[in-house]
Amino acid sequence: MSARCVTLEAVCRRIAAAQGDGPGVRLLAVSKRQPAAALRELAGCGQRAFGENYVQEALAKQRELAGLGIEWHLIGPLQSNKCREAARHFDWLESLDRAKLVPLLAAARPPQRPPLNVLIQVNIEGEAGKSGCAPQDVETLARQVAQAPALALRGLMAIPAPHPDSARRVDAFRRMRARFETLRAEFPGIDTLSMGMSEDFELAIAAGATEVRIGSALFGPRG
Ligand SMILES: *Cc1c(COP(=O)(O)O)cnc(C)c1O
Repeated sequence: MSARCVTLEAVCRRIAAAQGDGPGVRLLAVSKRQPAAALRELAGCGQRAFGENYVQEALAKQRELAGLGIEWHLIGPLQSNKCREAARHFDWLESLDRAKLVPLLAAARPPQRPPLNVLIQVNIEGEAGKSGCAPQDVETLARQVAQAPALALRGLMAIPAPHPDSARRVDAFRRMRARFETLRAEFPGIDTLSMGMSEDFELAIAAGATEVRIGSALFGPRG
């Protein structure tokens, strides 16, 4: 087995241990600033879902890796002038944070493709200058997404601040899970709570994440 597959297996084992008897947790391999060859290797180990932060960088990799059956998630901040490409070339958008983008994404989603899966990014700690919608605006934005047939509302995403004190991270993860449950009462079809990265994914899973986004623990330091 290649070294990369061994690393993937070790991460998957840690995820499995953290989830215990709970429902399966999706692993999103975060491949920003990694070369296409590294993604190809990891896909060869059976990894299917990849997360990219920058549209142009992702499009170049998508061209190189066409035909591998990769599921592409956009996880970086989205500008309105990139909505068209995001809607055409990704399977998931995890970083929707404002209503203005909803009609742009919906209009650009090709009709022959399934709806674009959407997570609303929440600025759970109300950090200044950080992307994500304010917690009190989640429901309104969710209703707008749910009304667009070209979009599929799937849940929430957050990047809590990297507090050195893990209790504070856990607190943010738990508040996200509570938000997710509140939203699910209105939209029973949502199934994804994306939170937790290389440094804290086990804490996130214990607090109720259904997807973790892991970069450096899979690929090593970014180039
Ligand atoms: C880079 C990034 C990650 C992965 O971070 P690691 O610490 O390398 O695991 C996860 N989510 C988002 C939104 C990122 O930008």
